[in-house]
Amino acid sequence: SVEIRNLRKSFGTLEVLRGIDLTVDAGQVVCVIGPSGSGKSTLLRCVNLLEQPTSGQVFVDGVELTDPDVDIDAARRRLGMVFQQFNLFPHLTVLRNVTIAQQRVLGRGRAEAERIAREDLERVGLADKAGAYPGQLSGGQQQRVAIARALAMNPSLMLFDEPTSALDPELVGDVLTVMRKLAEDGMTMLVVTHEMAFAREVADRVVFMDQGVIVEEGPPGQVIGSPRQERTQTFLRRVL
Ligand code: ATP
Ligand code: MG
Repeated sequence: SVEIRNLRKSFGTLEVLRGIDLTVDAGQVVCVIGPSGSGKSTLLRCVNLLEQPTSGQVFVDGVELTDPDVDIDAARRRLGMVFQQFNLFPHLTVLRNVTIAQQRVLGRGRAEAERIAREDLERVGLADKAGAYPGQLSGGQQQRVAIARALAMNPSLMLFDEPTSALDPELVGDVLTVMRKLAEDGMTMLVVTHEMAFAREVADRVVFMDQGVIVEEGPPGQVIGSPRQERTQTFLRRVL
């Protein structure tokens, strides 16, 4: 689970997050929607401490990541992150992309790392691509390798920041299918997305953010289906 308490983040005088409270319970999927610049990526980056929050607390499985005394590397290992850009190593095979952090960060031996990598490649439908290089794969396949790479680290929470928005439309479906399967398998997920159909179908809760605050949150049928707030209605009219 992840619990975010009164999270604030400023860049200089720009207040990007203005007091975010958000909990994702174990096994839940929460989708974050909202206009460009509303602070969605900054929120995810604060959760895994790629950005240092200005104030507030983040707890993952009850461990406070924002505690200055916490072992930050150990705590961060609980989180898997998938970005819009896949950031694979182009000179390494798919298999090596999925084993390298397991060996270097978790200290797994090569044979174990490869066994786990093959399982997770199977999970994302790419068992046959282990020997390929990223440049030989489609964008959707590369993104699925990135998901397998994150899964191989056994995270207790997966963070996704618009994982399909850099993809050609015909490649989006395969990635969403993998994410839907992860959700069904009980993975705890915090997903920033513009895919309203996915949010509607997969999310336990949808959070609408605007200008650094949560404007509205609730079950997808309510937030997307019949939003109560004017700002949510305006946003949805533009994207639906
Ligand atoms: P999008 O939908 O376009 O991805 P977003 O909701 O993810 O938008 P953020 O990327 O979190 O928005 O950005 C929120 C605001 O914070 C923007 O005004 C952005 O310019 C600003 N911002 C983000 N990162 C930095 C940074 N490192 N330094 C200064 N300003 C930043
Ligand atoms: Mg963003």
